Amino acid sequence: MVKSFLALLAGICICSYASGQKEIRSEPLKESQNPTLPTDSAWGHQHLLYGNPIIKGKYTTDPAALVYQDTVFLYTGHDEAPPNVQDYIMHDWLCFSSTDLVHWKEYATPLSAENFSWAKDGAWASQVVERDGKFYWYVAVKHRTIEGSAIGVAVADKPMGPFHDARGSALITNDMTPFIQSDKDDIDPTVLVDDDGRAYIFWGNARCYYARLKENMIELDGPIRTIPLPGFSEGTWISKRNGWYYLSYACGYPEKIAYAMSKNIQGPWIFRGILNEIAGNSATNSPAILNYKGKSYFIYHNGALPGGGSYRRSVCIDYLYYYPDGRMKTVVMTSSGVDPVK
Ligand code: CA
Repeated sequence: MVKSFLALLAGICICSYASGQKEIRSEPLKESQNPTLPTDSAWGHQHLLYGNPIIKGKYTTDPAALVYQDTVFLYTGHDEAPPNVQDYIMHDWLCFSSTDLVHWKEYATPLSAENFSWAKDGAWASQVVERDGKFYWYVAVKHRTIEGSAIGVAVADKPMGPFHDARGSALITNDMTPFIQSDKDDIDPTVLVDDDGRAYIFWGNARCYYARLKENMIELDGPIRTIPLPGFSEGTWISKRNGWYYLSYACGYPEKIAYAMSKNIQGPWIFRGILNEIAGNSATNSPAILNYKGKSYFIYHNGALPGGGSYRRSVCIDYLYYYPDGRMKTVVMTSSGVDPVK
């Protein structure tokens, strides 16, 4: 049921691109004739046309979201593994925008691992944050000369770019975190500019790290520290609400999303359990939390598009709710997704 529903979605949904001055249309993932839209479905038009996954013209992964001037900007990784390849084939990142969380416009590919001269492919999870009218895109890539993964940062004057390498070198390299024997512990950056102006970066695989960032956002300010988190795998996302800091992350494998809370961004962190269960047909996951026009949303990926799976993932959005004491309720993943924001 869900499968055929998604095949229907993939066939009929078109993402509109703003590629420079011209608009182009994405190719559907699976060839199919455009079906006639039913007029009185209990689902309603919106859910048939839209719903999860939200991007249907290509495989998207590792979401991050940013609200700027009442528009949501969604940044994702990009799975390009051919159907029979069971590996992460990821060269670039993608940027979409929406004002209702249902209609998404894609911008011409704004950033690629090739844009970092010191990097060697491996465009893994990322996040964009805004500070003083500039947009900083923190990314995980493979380093060309220092063995292992690394974190870089690109900068732009607009949320949709064009972005360029802000340093000409990696912000974090594998040798800066010698705490464990791993060549991929420096991935999945997430950044928060706190209300007092201090900025912090969190990241990690198998071990969770954090450090302060300088006001220029492109240099570390002080030592790298580790955070003990139960079952920590990767995929950190730092957020703040009503005086609580939330550190969400991928836990175990296959990955669920767990989270911890703290009144201080430097901890100690209180483990609060599972935020989202294993998402269908994807062994990994990566959370993003979005507050937009009075509601909270949880963004993640699954493998639900036709041909999808752990190496061909797709970004989804569902509602996120909080208990009165600030804890987050376990997310209910749906195929219908969220209602259009008015
Ligand atoms: Ca390391």
